[in-house]
Amino acid sequence: MLTDNTSVTEIKGIGPETAQDLEAIGVRTVNDLFEYFPYRYENYELRDLTTVKHDEKITVEGKVHSEPSLRYFSKKKSRLTVRVFVDRFLITAVMFNRPFLKKQLKIGDTLTLTGKWDQHRAAIVVSEFKRGVQKRASLIEPVYPVKGKLTVKQIRKFMTTAFNQYSSNIIDPLPAVLRQKYRLINRMEALKALHFPLDYNQLKQARRRMVYEELLLFQLRMQAFKQTKRENGKSTAIPVSKEAVDHFIKSLPFPLTKAQKRVSNEILTDLSKPYHMNRLLQGDVGSGKTVVAAINLFAVARAGFQGALMVPTEILAEQHAESLQDLLSPHDMTVALLTSAVKGKKRQELLNRLESGAIDILIGTHAVIQEDVNFKKLGLVVTDEQHRFGVEQRRTLRSKGENPDVLYMTATPIPRTLAISAFGDMDISTIDELPAGRKSIETYWTKHDMLNRVLAFVERELKKGRQAYVICPLIEESEQLDVQNAIDVHAQLQHCFKSFNVGLMHGRLSAQEKDEIMAGFKDNRFQVLVSTTVVEVGVNVPNATLMVIYDAQRFGLAQLHQLRGRVGRGSEQSYCILIADAKSEISQERMRIMTETTDGFKLSEYDLQLRGPGDFFGQKQSGLPDFKIADVVHDYRTLDVARSDAEAMIHSKSFWKDEACFYLRKILADSGVFEKERLD
Ligand code: ADP
Ligand code: MG
Repeated sequence: MLTDNTSVTEIKGIGPETAQDLEAIGVRTVNDLFEYFPYRYENYELRDLTTVKHDEKITVEGKVHSEPSLRYFSKKKSRLTVRVFVDRFLITAVMFNRPFLKKQLKIGDTLTLTGKWDQHRAAIVVSEFKRGVQKRASLIEPVYPVKGKLTVKQIRKFMTTAFNQYSSNIIDPLPAVLRQKYRLINRMEALKALHFPLDYNQLKQARRRMVYEELLLFQLRMQAFKQTKRENGKSTAIPVSKEAVDHFIKSLPFPLTKAQKRVSNEILTDLSKPYHMNRLLQGDVGSGKTVVAAINLFAVARAGFQGALMVPTEILAEQHAESLQDLLSPHDMTVALLTSAVKGKKRQELLNRLESGAIDILIGTHAVIQEDVNFKKLGLVVTDEQHRFGVEQRRTLRSKGENPDVLYMTATPIPRTLAISAFGDMDISTIDELPAGRKSIETYWTKHDMLNRVLAFVERELKKGRQAYVICPLIEESEQLDVQNAIDVHAQLQHCFKSFNVGLMHGRLSAQEKDEIMAGFKDNRFQVLVSTTVVEVGVNVPNATLMVIYDAQRFGLAQLHQLRGRVGRGSEQSYCILIADAKSEISQERMRIMTETTDGFKLSEYDLQLRGPGDFFGQKQSGLPDFKIADVVHDYRTLDVARSDAEAMIHSKSFWKDEACFYLRKILADSGVFEKERLD
């Protein structure tokens, strides 16, 4: 047996009740317990005071030098201070709310004290205290996350018993060759060191070993999954005509950027292969993803298949339908738009034409792939501006017998480290340059007390015939949060810009109302649009040159960048003004970075560093795997190494044959990646 699936109830001292508590933290088997890692360690090693930094937690041994003195702040609150000799230093030990110690501590007593070191006062604020010299099994003690009635002490005890009973069953799945290559210690040693560390160097080696194992297994699963998906994907090879595509590209109103050419080739190559395409196309706002989608939809339609483009809102659907029609209709292609406005007979007519194959490309919200919508021969689905094309949607397609290639487009540049973990089972194409001649958006950061000057600037732009977005973080007044809100700001600006129309948009409006307001802004019926972040996605209003963001410190970098991307779409110089009384260092840093770069990839790397991976996509939709020990940000180099190792392994014959890889193969098989009917 590879991993020890013995139930924890077999461990001495664990009854049914404790087993339930353990189950709540995800520990059912002995192996689960071994892989239940500490999240930090308590250090009881004696420290030399000359090397300790302020606020560090330390343990010292010393002798009481003088009578303790006690002071009461209230009935229950007191502070006891006592001078203690540690080596050749005289320090102060401070103990809160333990008045009884005054009588117990005698000059000359030996004490072991653990607590925070206050360098300025040469004092230790004691959190743990022992008489005499300490006698601990280990000077570095693991601290485990616990829930319910479980205590850290209990887990330590179970761990000890479990190791005594079962550690001889621990098998190392890593082939010796790999272990030697990276100088990794074996699994048993590593687990032991993580739970019963002797020193920090050993701990580091143990962690390194387990992180590699976890990431390698993860990447093997991803690669194997990708492989089986290909084999199961009955997707037909689409005979892409290179000449026709070249001809189409020549007909475009502008030359493609190098990056656009490269990604188009990547996608076209995928389309022409007989397996299922599952590809992510990422490119900064304005990098020209739409035309790449057009090229591929063109290729698919020219080969006799149909294509669909799915977008999150109707207004975006209209926008795309317009630009694709311009590009594709000169080439005898029929582009149709399906929105909720298409009803009754018209709708039925459209559906009939779709089913007969008279429509080449259908554009709409995700209504385009649902219920009564039937294609004759769907070859490619492109989704724009959404992170995930849900399992449900793929199931719908399959249930209709369609298994088209799928291309996901996103303007949220995903840092490489996250991309290969969150989207490890996808292929990724990246547009990493903007079309030539783009004016970069000038970005300024100002405080609230400069609001009048900001508004004067806005008015000057409006008088030149430009339009402006004004973004606020909240809809209504909130007493707890001192933030501007869209409704108030709207009233204020209407008053301020009397000769202009100011629109208001926020998340409480229905989709239709939002679309109407957006359309009004697009047609310049509103010159100013006050909005919450609902305006974020993909909207193209080239005449808008000004983006003003209130309380900008409340947004993450990725979001600020998205918002800024709404301007700078025309030939005029555009501006972004961040109004933020940023107090914390992190928010000041964010504002500063925004004014310094307009490169979405750089910003997303910063964002990841500043906020951590959980926050990056928003907790819920993160899609990030839950690693037991690895951390995608901290361990990104290992993740990279593991990825190329896994890729090489999956494609090598020896991996599938060699005795040394038996356990890796077994773990893969047990994880279910080879099962046929997995959809996501
Ligand atoms: P996004 O990647 O944000 O979806 P779009 O596809 O909307 O970007 O393109 C933004 C603008 O850039 C559009 O007006 C488009 O016509 C233009 N564009 C795209 N590619 C090029 C290019 N190679 N040269 C010049 N302009 C381009
Ligand atoms: Mg776009």
